[in-house]
Amino acid sequence: MKIKDIFETMEYGPAPESADVAIDYLKSHKNKFQLFINGEWKAPSSKENFDSINPSTREKLAEISEANEKDVNLAVKAAKDALPEWVNIGAHQRARYLYAIARQIQKHSRLFAVLESMDNGKPIRETRDIDIPLVARHFYHHAGWAQLRDTELKEYKEIGVIGQIIPWNFPLLMLAWKIAPALAMGNTLVLKPAEFTSLTALLFADICKQIGLPNGVVNIITGHGKTGATLVDHKDVNKIAFTGSTEVGKIIRRATAGTGKKLSLELGGKSPFIVFEDADLDSVVEGVVDAIWFNQGQVCCAGSRLLVEESIAEKLYKKIRKRMESLRVGNSLDKSIDIGAIVAPVQLKTIEELVQQGVDEGSKLWQPSWACPQDGYFYPPTMFTDVSPSSTIAQVEIFGPVLVAMSFRTHKEAVKLANNTRYGLASSIWTENINLALDIAPQIKAGVAWINCTNVFDAAAGFGGYRESGFGREGGKEGLYEYMKPRIHEKFSDKPVVKKPKDLKAPSTNGQHVTGIDRTTKMYIGGKQVRPDGGYSTVIKSANGEYIGEVSTGNRKDIRNAVEAAHANSTWGSMTGHARAQVLYYIAENLAIRKEEFANRIVQMTNCSKTEALKEVDESIERIYTYAALADKYDGLVHHTVKQNVTLAMPESLGVMAIVCPNESPLLGFISTVIPAMTMGNNVIAIPSESAPLSATDFYQILETSDVPAGTVNIVTGKKDELAQVLAKHDDVDAIWYFGDKAGLKDIEYLSADNMKRTWGNNGKYRDWMDKEQGEGEEFLRHASQIKNIWIPYGA
Ligand code: NDP
Repeated sequence: MKIKDIFETMEYGPAPESADVAIDYLKSHKNKFQLFINGEWKAPSSKENFDSINPSTREKLAEISEANEKDVNLAVKAAKDALPEWVNIGAHQRARYLYAIARQIQKHSRLFAVLESMDNGKPIRETRDIDIPLVARHFYHHAGWAQLRDTELKEYKEIGVIGQIIPWNFPLLMLAWKIAPALAMGNTLVLKPAEFTSLTALLFADICKQIGLPNGVVNIITGHGKTGATLVDHKDVNKIAFTGSTEVGKIIRRATAGTGKKLSLELGGKSPFIVFEDADLDSVVEGVVDAIWFNQGQVCCAGSRLLVEESIAEKLYKKIRKRMESLRVGNSLDKSIDIGAIVAPVQLKTIEELVQQGVDEGSKLWQPSWACPQDGYFYPPTMFTDVSPSSTIAQVEIFGPVLVAMSFRTHKEAVKLANNTRYGLASSIWTENINLALDIAPQIKAGVAWINCTNVFDAAAGFGGYRESGFGREGGKEGLYEYMKPRIHEKFSDKPVVKKPKDLKAPSTNGQHVTGIDRTTKMYIGGKQVRPDGGYSTVIKSANGEYIGEVSTGNRKDIRNAVEAAHANSTWGSMTGHARAQVLYYIAENLAIRKEEFANRIVQMTNCSKTEALKEVDESIERIYTYAALADKYDGLVHHTVKQNVTLAMPESLGVMAIVCPNESPLLGFISTVIPAMTMGNNVIAIPSESAPLSATDFYQILETSDVPAGTVNIVTGKKDELAQVLAKHDDVDAIWYFGDKAGLKDIEYLSADNMKRTWGNNGKYRDWMDKEQGEGEEFLRHASQIKNIWIPYGA
């Protein structure tokens, strides 16, 4: 092409970035990498290697070691041995190491960027301007948190050895999101990068060596899924942090059930990109480019579903098609391309198959007129219109440069369509009307809402999902809790903490039903006292075996009714914190009026002294006051993100929560678990103490007289574990707390994997509910809510 022609067409010429420094780096390892264990490079015990390929050129870059079980054991042992010293050096020294890592990343930023682009296929413009600067920012930000650890977070301590498994789409960035907070909070770790993209993690290992990070604090082992699974199963790993597919996330949830390992999962998404008719359409078009063609669409939070108000749909599609025609696909080291290569042939095949399925299911395909280069794994930007909301391409995470577009007529329909997937990672809302945007953002079930922007990230803001997009947050203060545990947990008991019964007399009635006493309590569902579906009841006896009465034996159908009733109630969740507080105070007031009666009931069930029973009622009243007080005070933050943004971190309710109450402290155990869940605006299905349920069934009279909307609290009595398992399997339950034994919790964690419910329990330990430090506080509210980060850019 002549210069004259270039002036005519204004085509970009190639602007290749040199690969020399990266090639030299690979040569320094003889293009063959070992495992990084205990501060040393170590040959894999398997003696096996696999190739790392440049997806833009199909050329082999290096050989990577396959770590087997023996290597995983060595790495975990190194991390475990390094832990005491790493904890002992203290917050300030850890901060210095993190700061040194950040400096080194900045110093070698171009090498990191080039290597990442070659290994992954992503454009150098993205690695240079987005990935690597964000990595450095993450380590700087967390160097700060490391420094503040002993002052700002002194009620918490490190978890121990962390196993971290990351995907191939943002190799170094995901490493930073995992490693920075883990180290800052005083943990040591073993990290496994994805098989396709291990190189920058290995360069990072060299950085750890350079700065003199104590041996064993960071261990990097490469390998396939099996290596990851071995790490997950290792008994000395105290927490698993995983980013990847929802399918593998579920496998890990099940594998860790009952082990007491803490877990955070950042999984797939099918995020909505919602455009209202008053949006600035030219900005929207650039937003779409960033949403779905950034990183070839291989982004968990990609705005892959374009939802457009019908009145402007055709106009917007036309503009997008025009822009697609001008996008450039090519070698990742060319600075003038927009879209690089797909990471590997297997991913390319998945994309091609799903696109074909879209065509087969009747959606309209559009791709630009030009063809992709043939020397790498390339795929053109693609848009589907005429897409039905239930079609495969509208539901499945394609993880490629494929946009599916649908239209809506009303705001309500937009929200419904946006929430119409099993995922809930991110959303992007485009309108010039800030009132509309802030009305829509809380209605979308997703951990992030970007208003008039998309795919913006920062170390100061949390990122993570709702629903099957996983749980836990990375970044922000909210992300730190994933790497710490409350010190108070060390006080938990190995056995249930129960009041000592007063001298137990033999039951006067031989434990048999006494004629004349006929008290069978009903259940409480949807604000009504209801009989059990099965028509059975269970006898309740006191601690000395005396017959007290009977409770309804709930079954699967009763649970289904309770879940339905909880869903039908939208009143409680939409009330303000102040309004909820008023109801909670009212509950406390009504309980205070009936203090004697509730104390007598506790005496009757547990045979404790009246004084102790009165203390339990008093403590219950006080606890309700605490949560009423917190209802309008446990609020969010405005994060200091680096761009011109107001980033609101808002705690939102989880939705419908199942609470399996402790058997001990019949009233206080019920109050201590149900009230914090209510405080955050959840609707609750409570399974009260199995042995002493009557305080809870008496309590519905209090709920009835305290202005609690129907369906806010539903009480189903019966066999605790049977009912808990039905709840754990129920797809419309968003979270489940289980306060019982270890075996019960294991079942709950295992069964909850199907829809990725949040689970919480005491891992086979027991709280003393009478102790305020153990029985109440922000830990409860944190587990009853999830943080949504809403990004609102500013600047005229
Ligand atoms: P995976 O979820 O399989 O991989 C993520 C990480 O987990 C990798 O390091 C992988 O190792 C490892 N892994 C795989 N199986 C196990 C296991 N049983 N136990 C522990 N670790 C395991 O994602 P893929 O890379 O296979 O991609 C498949 C699909 O997942 C994509 O098409 C995309 O839809 C989705 N995905 C979503 C991501 C997200 O961020 N939401 C990120 C990546 C993929 P290895 O790579 O060596 O097999």
